[in-house]
Amino acid sequence: MRARAVTVAAVLLVSLAAGGCSGDSSRPRGEASAAPSAAATAPGPGTPADTSCNPRASRRPSAPLPKPGAMPAGTYMRTIQDRGRLILGTSQDTLLFSSRNPFTGKIEGFDVDMGRQIAAAIFGDPDKIQIRVIGYDDRVEAVDAEEPVDLVADTMTANCDRWRDVDFSTIYYDAGQKVLVSSTSDARGIGDLGGRKVCAAQGSTSYDNIAAAASKPVAVARAGFADCLVAFQQNEVDAISTDDTILVGLAAQDPYAKVVGPRMSQEPYGMAISKKHPEFTRFVNAVLERNRANGTWKKTYERWLGDLGPAPRPPAAQYRD
Ligand code: GLU
Repeated sequence: MRARAVTVAAVLLVSLAAGGCSGDSSRPRGEASAAPSAAATAPGPGTPADTSCNPRASRRPSAPLPKPGAMPAGTYMRTIQDRGRLILGTSQDTLLFSSRNPFTGKIEGFDVDMGRQIAAAIFGDPDKIQIRVIGYDDRVEAVDAEEPVDLVADTMTANCDRWRDVDFSTIYYDAGQKVLVSSTSDARGIGDLGGRKVCAAQGSTSYDNIAAAASKPVAVARAGFADCLVAFQQNEVDAISTDDTILVGLAAQDPYAKVVGPRMSQEPYGMAISKKHPEFTRFVNAVLERNRANGTWKKTYERWLGDLGPAPRPPAAQYRD
């Protein structure tokens, strides 16, 4: 029943993503990049991963959490409280994590709930949130843009390269990269796709991983993964490779596709926050810590990802100070 509802919603979602839609203070993903072609401004191939830090380790929470509606003066949380809403940067086409529900017009999913839980901690009301749709390529810049978002929750891998520009919360989800191929394909993973065109979103870690794969697939960039799915369905690419979380949502939209392979990378998701507000990162980590312990994380998993099986243990928090 639920799987069918997801499929129906997903088909509509692709139409929405292709045609653009209104609502929220958003623009369709990829608008800034003007739908780059395969050879467009994609990241350089095979840049070696930066392993100079522990990307899972974030700032230690400040305890105790202030009461909702009583954020301490002079903190960024107070700035948000005084504004009356939290501004969350996310996608509108990542099914199960942040996608527009075609029946309600609202953007919803695991990532959106992460933001809503922070809004609830600040205001006592998860609805005090404004969603701003951003492109994958804009996720790092969004927290320090001219009109910044407070928080990015957008299937965003915390890695050392990005830590140079933003702070990440502690890890709230552990994903890993796999491959989507035609249901008739013999490929069992990226190792079988040498010389084949494999699509990923511009600005994603997956693009770099495809370009660096030993089997030498041809990495093809599109503005977002909905665009990759269209390219796959039009036979412009042989496969799509990204986080298993995202592939589950894509496979639900195409009965002739399947997800294969062992995980070829670790993609630990963190929420990105400006380095200008370290106290806000500590606050977010305190909320995550509480929600891991009180079952909120588990309920969020069951709500959005329950079809994948029982909820695993939430990723353990690691701290750097
Ligand atoms: N987790 C990835 C990132 O942060 C998004 C998905 C992908 O790379 O394909 O870039």
